[in-house]
Amino acid sequence: MSSAVREKLELPNGGHKLLMHSCCAPCSGEVMEAFLESGIDYTVFFYNPNIHPVKEYLLRKEENIRFAEKHGVPFIDADYDTDNWFARAKGMENEPERGIRCTMCFDMRFERTALYAHEHGFPVITSSLGISRWKNMAQINDCGHRAAAPYDGLAYWDYNWRKGGGSQRMIEISKRENFYQQEYCGCVYSLRDTNRHRRAQGRDRIHIGVKFYGDDDAG
Ligand code: SF4
Repeated sequence: MSSAVREKLELPNGGHKLLMHSCCAPCSGEVMEAFLESGIDYTVFFYNPNIHPVKEYLLRKEENIRFAEKHGVPFIDADYDTDNWFARAKGMENEPERGIRCTMCFDMRFERTALYAHEHGFPVITSSLGISRWKNMAQINDCGHRAAAPYDGLAYWDYNWRKGGGSQRMIEISKRENFYQQEYCGCVYSLRDTNRHRRAQGRDRIHIGVKFYGDDDAG
Protein backbone atom coordinates (compact mmCIF):
# COMPACT_ATOMS: atom_id res chain seq x y z
CA MET A 1 0.00 0.00 0.00
CA SER A 2 1.22 3.48 -0.81
CA SER A 3 1.95 5.84 2.01
CA ALA A 4 0.45 9.37 2.16
CA VAL A 5 -1.75 10.87 -0.52
CA ARG A 6 -0.01 12.67 -3.37
CA GLU A 7 -0.82 16.30 -3.96
CA LYS A 8 -2.33 17.31 -7.30
CA LEU A 9 0.55 18.48 -9.50
CA GLU A 10 0.41 21.39 -11.96
CA LEU A 11 3.13 22.14 -14.47
CA PRO A 12 4.85 25.50 -13.89
CA ASN A 13 4.21 28.44 -16.22
CA GLY A 14 0.95 26.91 -17.43
CA GLY A 15 2.93 24.33 -19.40
CA HIS A 16 0.90 21.70 -21.23
CA LYS A 17 3.44 18.92 -21.56
CA LEU A 18 6.61 17.82 -19.89
CA LEU A 19 9.90 16.17 -20.80
CA MET A 20 11.24 14.22 -17.84
CA HIS A 21 14.87 13.26 -17.75
CA SER A 22 15.07 9.84 -16.12
CA CYS A 23 18.19 8.39 -14.53
CA CYS A 24 16.74 4.95 -13.73
CA ALA A 25 13.51 3.09 -12.98
CA PRO A 26 13.72 3.19 -9.16
CA CYS A 27 14.13 6.99 -9.08
CA SER A 28 11.56 7.65 -11.78
CA GLY A 29 8.85 5.19 -10.66
CA GLU A 30 7.28 7.47 -8.07
CA VAL A 31 7.74 10.57 -10.23
CA MET A 32 6.09 8.88 -13.21
CA GLU A 33 3.15 7.62 -11.18
CA ALA A 34 2.68 11.08 -9.64
CA PHE A 35 2.41 12.59 -13.15
CA LEU A 36 -0.06 9.94 -14.22
CA GLU A 37 -2.19 10.51 -11.16
CA SER A 38 -2.28 14.25 -11.89
CA GLY A 39 -3.07 13.73 -15.57
CA ILE A 40 0.16 15.37 -16.74
CA ASP A 41 1.14 14.72 -20.35
CA TYR A 42 4.79 13.68 -20.25
CA THR A 43 7.54 11.85 -22.07
CA VAL A 44 10.52 10.08 -20.53
CA PHE A 45 13.94 11.12 -21.81
CA PHE A 46 16.66 8.58 -21.04
CA TYR A 47 20.05 10.16 -21.58
CA ASN A 48 22.71 8.80 -19.24
CA PRO A 49 26.08 8.30 -20.95
CA ASN A 50 27.67 8.41 -17.49
CA ILE A 51 26.55 4.85 -16.70
CA HIS A 52 29.36 2.31 -16.88
CA PRO A 53 29.77 -0.44 -17.94
CA VAL A 54 27.33 -0.98 -20.79
CA LYS A 55 25.85 -4.02 -19.01
CA GLU A 56 24.75 -1.79 -16.14
CA TYR A 57 23.53 0.88 -18.58
CA LEU A 58 21.33 -1.62 -20.40
CA LEU A 59 19.94 -3.07 -17.16
CA ARG A 60 18.91 0.37 -15.92
CA LYS A 61 17.48 1.40 -19.26
CA GLU A 62 15.52 -1.80 -19.86
CA GLU A 63 13.90 -1.54 -16.43
CA ASN A 64 12.83 1.99 -17.23
CA ILE A 65 11.45 1.00 -20.64
CA ARG A 66 9.51 -1.88 -19.07
CA PHE A 67 7.86 0.50 -16.61
CA ALA A 68 7.12 3.16 -19.24
CA GLU A 69 5.53 0.56 -21.53
CA LYS A 70 3.41 -0.74 -18.67
CA HIS A 71 1.94 2.74 -18.27
CA GLY A 72 1.86 3.61 -21.97
CA VAL A 73 4.28 6.51 -21.50
CA PRO A 74 6.44 7.60 -24.49
CA PHE A 75 10.12 6.84 -23.95
CA ILE A 76 12.97 8.58 -25.78
CA ASP A 77 16.07 6.39 -25.82
CA ALA A 78 18.74 9.05 -26.35
CA ASP A 79 22.44 8.63 -27.18
CA TYR A 80 24.90 6.63 -25.17
CA ASP A 81 27.75 8.94 -26.13
CA THR A 82 30.25 7.81 -23.55
CA ASP A 83 33.20 9.40 -25.38
CA ASN A 84 31.68 12.83 -24.78
CA TRP A 85 31.08 12.02 -21.12
CA PHE A 86 34.66 10.85 -20.58
CA ALA A 87 35.99 13.90 -22.43
CA ARG A 88 34.07 16.19 -20.10
CA ALA A 89 35.12 14.20 -17.02
CA LYS A 90 38.82 14.48 -17.87
CA GLY A 91 40.78 15.79 -14.90
CA MET A 92 37.88 15.09 -12.53
CA GLU A 93 38.51 11.37 -12.12
CA ASN A 94 39.26 11.64 -8.42
CA GLU A 95 36.61 14.14 -7.43
CA PRO A 96 34.24 12.96 -4.69
CA GLU A 97 30.53 12.37 -5.25
CA ARG A 98 28.49 15.58 -5.08
CA GLY A 99 31.59 17.48 -6.30
CA ILE A 100 32.42 19.18 -9.60
CA ARG A 101 32.41 15.97 -11.64
CA CYS A 102 28.79 15.45 -10.64
CA THR A 103 27.94 19.05 -11.56
CA MET A 104 29.43 18.37 -15.00
CA CYS A 105 27.50 15.10 -15.22
CA PHE A 106 24.15 16.72 -14.37
CA ASP A 107 24.91 19.66 -16.68
CA MET A 108 25.63 17.34 -19.58
CA ARG A 109 22.47 15.28 -19.13
CA PHE A 110 20.25 18.32 -18.63
CA GLU A 111 21.76 20.25 -21.56
CA ARG A 112 20.72 17.43 -23.87
CA THR A 113 17.30 17.23 -22.24
CA ALA A 114 16.78 20.98 -22.67
CA LEU A 115 17.91 20.87 -26.29
CA TYR A 116 15.51 18.04 -27.08
CA ALA A 117 12.68 19.87 -25.29
CA HIS A 118 13.42 23.04 -27.28
CA GLU A 119 13.52 21.17 -30.59
CA HIS A 120 10.34 19.18 -29.92
CA GLY A 121 8.03 21.73 -28.33
CA PHE A 122 8.19 20.78 -24.66
CA PRO A 123 7.82 23.93 -22.48
CA VAL A 124 8.90 22.23 -19.24
CA ILE A 125 11.68 19.82 -18.25
CA THR A 126 12.40 18.07 -14.99
CA SER A 127 14.35 15.09 -13.71
CA SER A 128 13.96 12.13 -11.40
CA LEU A 129 17.54 12.59 -10.18
CA GLY A 130 16.58 14.71 -7.17
CA ILE A 131 14.43 12.06 -5.50
CA SER A 132 17.47 10.08 -4.39
CA ARG A 133 18.60 10.89 -0.88
CA TRP A 134 22.20 10.26 -2.01
CA LYS A 135 22.05 13.35 -4.23
CA ASN A 136 22.39 17.05 -3.45
CA MET A 137 19.06 18.47 -4.60
CA ALA A 138 20.31 22.07 -4.75
CA GLN A 139 23.19 21.00 -7.00
CA ILE A 140 20.80 19.18 -9.33
CA ASN A 141 18.35 22.08 -9.45
CA ASP A 142 21.13 24.58 -10.23
CA CYS A 143 22.14 22.43 -13.19
CA GLY A 144 18.55 22.09 -14.36
CA HIS A 145 17.89 25.83 -14.30
CA ARG A 146 21.21 26.50 -16.04
CA ALA A 147 20.33 24.07 -18.83
CA ALA A 148 16.90 25.58 -19.46
CA ALA A 149 18.02 29.22 -19.25
CA PRO A 150 19.27 29.65 -22.86
CA TYR A 151 15.86 28.74 -24.30
CA ASP A 152 13.01 31.22 -24.33
CA GLY A 153 9.85 29.70 -22.96
CA LEU A 154 11.55 26.63 -21.46
CA ALA A 155 11.25 26.10 -17.69
CA TYR A 156 13.04 23.65 -15.42
CA TRP A 157 10.64 22.31 -12.78
CA ASP A 158 12.48 21.98 -9.46
CA TYR A 159 9.71 20.17 -7.62
CA ASN A 160 10.86 18.32 -4.48
CA TRP A 161 9.89 14.70 -5.24
CA ARG A 162 10.99 13.52 -1.80
CA LYS A 163 8.29 15.40 0.08
CA GLY A 164 4.80 14.23 0.99
CA GLY A 165 5.88 10.60 1.26
CA GLY A 166 7.62 10.58 -2.15
CA SER A 167 10.81 8.98 -0.85
CA GLN A 168 8.86 6.19 0.82
CA ARG A 169 6.67 5.58 -2.22
CA MET A 170 9.82 5.40 -4.36
CA ILE A 171 10.93 2.37 -2.33
CA GLU A 172 7.43 0.86 -2.25
CA ILE A 173 7.07 1.08 -6.02
CA SER A 174 10.58 -0.29 -6.58
CA LYS A 175 9.73 -3.33 -4.45
CA ARG A 176 6.31 -3.78 -6.03
CA GLU A 177 7.90 -3.70 -9.51
CA ASN A 178 10.93 -5.75 -8.42
CA PHE A 179 13.17 -3.15 -10.10
CA TYR A 180 16.85 -3.78 -10.62
CA GLN A 181 18.70 -2.21 -7.70
CA GLN A 182 21.89 -0.47 -8.67
CA GLU A 183 24.53 -0.27 -5.97
CA TYR A 184 26.54 2.74 -7.15
CA CYS A 185 25.73 6.09 -8.71
CA GLY A 186 26.65 5.19 -12.25
CA CYS A 187 30.05 6.23 -13.62
CA VAL A 188 33.22 4.16 -13.58
CA TYR A 189 34.63 6.40 -10.84
CA SER A 190 31.64 5.91 -8.57
CA LEU A 191 31.93 2.16 -9.16
CA ARG A 192 35.62 2.30 -8.22
CA ASP A 193 34.99 4.40 -5.11
CA THR A 194 32.04 2.33 -3.91
CA ASN A 195 34.10 -0.83 -4.28
CA ARG A 196 36.96 0.76 -2.34
CA HIS A 197 34.55 1.67 0.42
CA ARG A 198 33.09 -1.82 0.49
CA ARG A 199 36.54 -3.40 0.61
CA ALA A 200 37.47 -1.16 3.54
CA GLN A 201 34.41 -2.50 5.34
CA GLY A 202 35.34 -6.09 4.53
CA ARG A 203 32.45 -6.43 2.07
CA ASP A 204 32.49 -8.09 -1.34
CA ARG A 205 32.77 -5.93 -4.46
CA ILE A 206 29.69 -5.00 -6.49
CA HIS A 207 28.29 -7.70 -8.75
CA ILE A 208 26.34 -6.15 -11.58
CA GLY A 209 22.89 -7.48 -12.39
CA VAL A 210 22.19 -9.51 -9.25
CA LYS A 211 20.27 -7.27 -6.87
CA PHE A 212 16.56 -6.51 -7.21
CA TYR A 213 14.29 -4.53 -4.91
CA GLY A 214 12.16 -6.72 -2.71
CA ASP A 215 14.19 -9.90 -3.20
CA ASP A 216 15.68 -9.93 0.29
CA ASP A 217 12.54 -8.72 2.05
CA ALA A 218 10.65 -10.94 4.41
CA GLY A 219 7.41 -9.15 3.63
S1 SF4 B 1 29.13 9.95 -9.22
FE1 SF4 B 1 27.15 9.89 -10.32
S2 SF4 B 1 26.53 12.05 -10.69
FE2 SF4 B 1 28.71 11.99 -10.12
S3 SF4 B 1 29.82 11.91 -12.07
FE3 SF4 B 1 29.55 9.80 -11.44
S4 SF4 B 1 27.62 9.10 -12.36
FE4 SF4 B 1 27.67 11.36 -12.51
